[in-house]
Amino acid sequence: MTQTRGKKPLVVMKFGGTSLGNPERVQGAGEIIAAHAKRAEVVAVVSAMGGVTDMLIRAATEASKGDREHWRGARQELARKHREVADRLLSASEQATVLPRLAEQLTNLENLCSGFSLVREVTPRAMDTLSSLGEVMSATLLAAILRSSGTAAEAVDATELIVTDNSFGNASPLLDETNARTRQRLAPIRRRGAIPVVTGFRGATRDGVCTTLGRGGSDYSATLVGAALDADEVWIWTDVDGVMSADPRLVPGARIIPEISYREAIELSFFGARVLHPKTIQPVMKKGIPVWIKNSFNPQCPGTKIVAVPTDRTPGVKALTSVSNSDLVTISGKDTLSFPRLATRVFNGLHLEDVSTLMVTQSSADNVLCFAIHDTDLPRVKARLGKTFELEMLHEYVGTLEVMPKIAIVVAVGENMKGTPGIAGRAFSALGRKGINIIAIAQGSSELSISFAVKSAEVKEAVKAIHEEFEL
Ligand code: ADP
Ligand code: ASP
Ligand code: MG
Repeated sequence: MTQTRGKKPLVVMKFGGTSLGNPERVQGAGEIIAAHAKRAEVVAVVSAMGGVTDMLIRAATEASKGDREHWRGARQELARKHREVADRLLSASEQATVLPRLAEQLTNLENLCSGFSLVREVTPRAMDTLSSLGEVMSATLLAAILRSSGTAAEAVDATELIVTDNSFGNASPLLDETNARTRQRLAPIRRRGAIPVVTGFRGATRDGVCTTLGRGGSDYSATLVGAALDADEVWIWTDVDGVMSADPRLVPGARIIPEISYREAIELSFFGARVLHPKTIQPVMKKGIPVWIKNSFNPQCPGTKIVAVPTDRTPGVKALTSVSNSDLVTISGKDTLSFPRLATRVFNGLHLEDVSTLMVTQSSADNVLCFAIHDTDLPRVKARLGKTFELEMLHEYVGTLEVMPKIAIVVAVGENMKGTPGIAGRAFSALGRKGINIIAIAQGSSELSISFAVKSAEVKEAVKAIHEEFEL
């Protein structure tokens, strides 16, 4: 660990749901924090216990359909799960303060779900308040566990730190205000020598209404807090030994990558590598704060260091990722409508629907534009572009949208692919040998990644074939 100031280095440590799955795991997280607190100043950021966010979202959804039983079951299960941790790991005096706070969150759950069932609706705003209750419970518990074992700690609700816009479900932080509030709110706790245990995932608008940073957003919370405090490092504790050359669930032989660049990490996370929330790197990039991915199940393993410029400059592909559940949409115009005009109107439509593309290919000569999107975005895209080109479609200046469903995008990432000839060719041949048809291909001029669209059913085989070809 590098130390940039005279005192102890400051490390923000985030624990994901997998690292807080049961009482043993929560205890393990407490032990990791307490051990490092001897050598570094630690600020902890926590996700909900494993599976809790899914349960909360399901409870809200069922309630909004009028089911008045489901959330009662969820409440019981959540009470049991958190109570088990409290019973096993908290001193009697800590139990006396913590149990009423947990009960309060469960009462919030009941009240909210009861409301949803009455109005038969759950708004994104109310969903954010409900879906992030798990973080409030886990932070409350972990701070109390640390105190029970003699380490001063205080739970902090990130609604007091992270100020966001009001895009509920996927809010964007307002950085200046977030930085100021985070420093201010955590300063007295840090001065007392206590470890702040901050709820991940959630923030609040300027008016104090709870928001969330999108699923998996606690990684982002950690780097936001790290950047606000000018931390020396951010450590993300998860259930794998680091960033791997492919999703280990798809490629069992995937290898740990000791060091990757910020740009590679952004590319991998954007294209579905769940180990990092896609926006995680943004806050720390400018300040050059290193981010480590470490395994809480195997803390001795050094993990992956994410930095501006890695020391290893070996050319070629570094890692693969893939996004399943995508659709390929094709739109073609008659030559009366020039290609730039067609493209402008299509992309403006996507922008208005806040839809991002996973891959874009074009043929100006034929006036054809083809793009891949997440399948959940398809209904909105169809409706928007149908409206945008209503008259042109009526007069057949623009063809109807053609949709190829069940597509996966396989992406090869590596900053040092630049200037290495033959990468696409080798990937093509590897897929060809397995009889996998490439539906579309795209490569940016930055040569940071090459994307291949294949049938969803063939994604596992495709990733394995390319992984083997490049001996990752
Ligand atoms: P947490 O609960 O700690 O946030 P996540 O489940 O969100 O954990 O992220 C960790 C998971 O990310 C791993 O278990 C792994 O299956 C998946 N993953 C996908 N791609 C990669 C990759 N390239 N390297 C490492 N893990 C990956
Ligand atoms: N608990 C939240 C989720 O499951 C946030 C996170 O895990 O990072 O999406
Ligand atoms: Mg995660």
